[in-house]
Amino acid sequence: MDDCIFCRIAAGTIPSKKVYEDDNVLAFHDIAPAAPVHILVIPKKHITSAIDLSPEDEALLMQVFQAIKKVAQIAGIAQDGFRIVSNVGKNGGQSVRHLHFHVLGGKAYGANFG
Ligand code: 5GP
Ligand code: ZN
Repeated sequence: MDDCIFCRIAAGTIPSKKVYEDDNVLAFHDIAPAAPVHILVIPKKHITSAIDLSPEDEALLMQVFQAIKKVAQIAGIAQDGFRIVSNVGKNGGQSVRHLHFHVLGGKAYGANFG
């Protein structure tokens, strides 16, 4: 999708600070980090949000989570733990309508979701 900022990042037409990439998944540093480590993990395929996943995306979703694991290892937060967040829609606080998982680490979170 030409008007989707994350599709453009996946295509390389908008630059990003890449952390990990394979054929189907890209991980890059968030432009406005909300934690010492704040990486976005996206499928290169345009899927609007988590509720727009379909059964045909089953393998892709597994690849995304495998990438999250690799990203956490690369960023050095796998041992201490981290938070995975995927916002959905307006009330979920989703500002970019391309499925993405925030990987947030380098600090300790409590059980409070604010
Ligand atoms: P959302 O609010 O949709 O859950 O998360 C979107 C995230 O994308 C935000 O944390 C925002 O800082 C990040 N973001 C928006 N535009 C860009 C961009 O052009 N490059 C990068 N690296 N991150 C972006
Ligand atoms: Zn997109």
